[in-house]
Amino acid sequence: MKESSADRIFGKFEAGKESARHLLAKEFKEQEYKYETERQKTKEELEIIAFVNEFTNTVATNFGGQSLDVQQKNVHVLDQSEIEQLDKIFSQKETTHPSSIFIASLQAIVMSDKKGDLLAFTRELVHEMCHFKAFQSLEVRLDPDRKMWVGKNRRGGLAIEIKRDKQKEAAFVDLNEAIIEQLTGVILENLTKSNDLPDALKKQIEKVPNEQREEKIFGAVYVPEQLRLIDIAEKIYGKNRDRFKNAGEVLRLFYKSMFSGELLQVARLIEKTFGKGSFKKIGEEGLPISQIEKEVAEEEK
Ligand SMILES: [Zn+2]
Repeated sequence: MKESSADRIFGKFEAGKESARHLLAKEFKEQEYKYETERQKTKEELEIIAFVNEFTNTVATNFGGQSLDVQQKNVHVLDQSEIEQLDKIFSQKETTHPSSIFIASLQAIVMSDKKGDLLAFTRELVHEMCHFKAFQSLEVRLDPDRKMWVGKNRRGGLAIEIKRDKQKEAAFVDLNEAIIEQLTGVILENLTKSNDLPDALKKQIEKVPNEQREEKIFGAVYVPEQLRLIDIAEKIYGKNRDRFKNAGEVLRLFYKSMFSGELLQVARLIEKTFGKGSFKKIGEEGLPISQIEKEVAEEEK
């Protein structure tokens, strides 16, 4: 069991790495950061957090990752405005007005108030829990001017820091989100059938009319990214039928890679299917446009 979300800490100095390890574990446990707009979580939300934590620990270990006991206090319900402020400070990617974020430096998930909509709460919580439990590494260096340790995230799931024109940039962010959101769908499918599903959540699920199930239970975020990921998985399957039974099996390999930190197999398969240099290209330029997106664009012309 991990003591914080960090799986690996790199750096030249043992003391710096030890200090970072200690600080993250302390942050994880004590949650000392004071949020301005935090409200108390309801009894129903607390039950869902405990349930989703258990459930995603099984998922993480099944896919070769480590479990991490995310406590109820690691999840904070805030005003949307404060979430956007935090996103500007902590997020490395372009801001997209998220309503929930996992913040590694604070070892916390922050979520906007879903005002009793437990389905939305669960959906976003599962997604952020996957970020929380995905493989993470950081690098610790000594800042020569301030004589202090500085930590920089290197990996979060499949998203990595790359050097481009001497600048550090986040790469594979879209791939990582696509994988997490695909997996969130799979988790929700299984979780909603669980015998341990908290009662209040179960009641809300039962009330959803059939034609609204997709939208209300599974939601629709990162849709283009997911379409692009599925395209890639299908093409990989098409060229490696000796190895995979279907495209779903290819996706499982991506989930494994996200939790275990093992990138090589995924990178090799992409290179083998799309040609030399294609993995790096996806990192630098993002996922290629999917067939469905192309067709829609054609129709709109
Ligand atoms: Zn995400």
